Amino acid sequence: MKKKIGLPMQILIALILGIVVGLVCGMTGMADFTTAYLKPFGTIFVNLLKFIVVPVVLLSMIDGILSMDDMKKVGSVGWKTLAYFLVSTAIACVIGLVFAKIFDGAGLFPTLALEEGAEWTKATSANFMDTLVGMFPSNMWEAFHTANMLQVIIIALFLGGSIMAAGEKGKLARDVVASFNEVINKLMEFIISLSPIGVFTMMAWVVATQGAEILGSLALVLACAYIGYIVHAVLVYSASAKIFAGMSPVKFFKGAFAAMMFAFTSTSSAATLPVSKDCAEKLGADKDISAFVLPLGATVNMDGTAIYQCVATVFLASLAGVELGLAQMITIVVTATLASIGTAGVSGAGMIMLAMVLTAMGIDVNMIMIIYGVDRLFDMGRTCLNVTGDIACSICVTKWEKEKVTK
Ligand code: ASP
Repeated sequence: MKKKIGLPMQILIALILGIVVGLVCGMTGMADFTTAYLKPFGTIFVNLLKFIVVPVVLLSMIDGILSMDDMKKVGSVGWKTLAYFLVSTAIACVIGLVFAKIFDGAGLFPTLALEEGAEWTKATSANFMDTLVGMFPSNMWEAFHTANMLQVIIIALFLGGSIMAAGEKGKLARDVVASFNEVINKLMEFIISLSPIGVFTMMAWVVATQGAEILGSLALVLACAYIGYIVHAVLVYSASAKIFAGMSPVKFFKGAFAAMMFAFTSTSSAATLPVSKDCAEKLGADKDISAFVLPLGATVNMDGTAIYQCVATVFLASLAGVELGLAQMITIVVTATLASIGTAGVSGAGMIMLAMVLTAMGIDVNMIMIIYGVDRLFDMGRTCLNVTGDIACSICVTKWEKEKVTK
């Protein structure tokens, strides 16, 4: 009898094949071939994921709220989730800063010159009040149309609460949400089953086009960020899964593997959402809770991004000759935490928000151009960490809520 290979294994095989094909294409001067003929299939796949992301977030969040059947429970899950997000992101910033300072102190960061005439656009949402106002949609369709995830989350919260408040008369709306949620889940399962193709093509393209750059001058800055990502995953996620949910690190990472690999290659937390929902539920997260935590996490919880922003800021500050005293470091931790919250769960967004941290430090925003070329390589790791954090949170919150019931 033929044994079916599971999806995580298929993704791993696709990843390895992608690296091999990418290396071969890179070495034989066929990098353009991967851009022209492989990357488009990855793009189709990522587009498919993006296309279901708004209905997935909207329906699964409303459905999750309705299944909790009590606004008090929504509030209780909500504050626990936000507390986990905030604490883990602040720790991420400290980890990023510590490793960046160690690398910088040891003279491991390269000394480069900024290219003349390079231009960069500033981050637009640096102001907290503007961000707050921007969370509230003035037009529901526009929020869907522009896939503004914070606004979609607010809409889901309002609609979920209102359907609940409507009681018996809201029953039709409740059934419609449950039914469409089921339909979207089926579509999602189909799209996810195509993920090995997306992973293979994207990986081959990245390795073929950027493989040489990894070995270039920024390798040590990348290494610093990746050490931060790994330490954070081990220290914060596996430890919290162990301490709060009694889950062994091996079980946790094995269960989260498919989403991690997917995030690594797609560089989008939002696009990975369907896969992370699947992983979180298989790991024992309550369906209603993960339906609430994961979309929120994919929008505001970005620990990998926070680490990256700290490392990049220390590196660029050292290039720019900016001294980093205690006050400056606190500024980095605070602004990187806020910037990571404001970062959208899409490819490359963290680099744009880096401008916010640099501006707060008085560093020329144009300096982002120095890391621009290899940003995708930073992005792969940070997105992987971002998604892992969301899954860990959904497991911990599930456990906390269960403990509350049994108390
Ligand atoms: N790509 C990241 C994500 O989707 C965000 C970032 O660029 O840092 O989680």
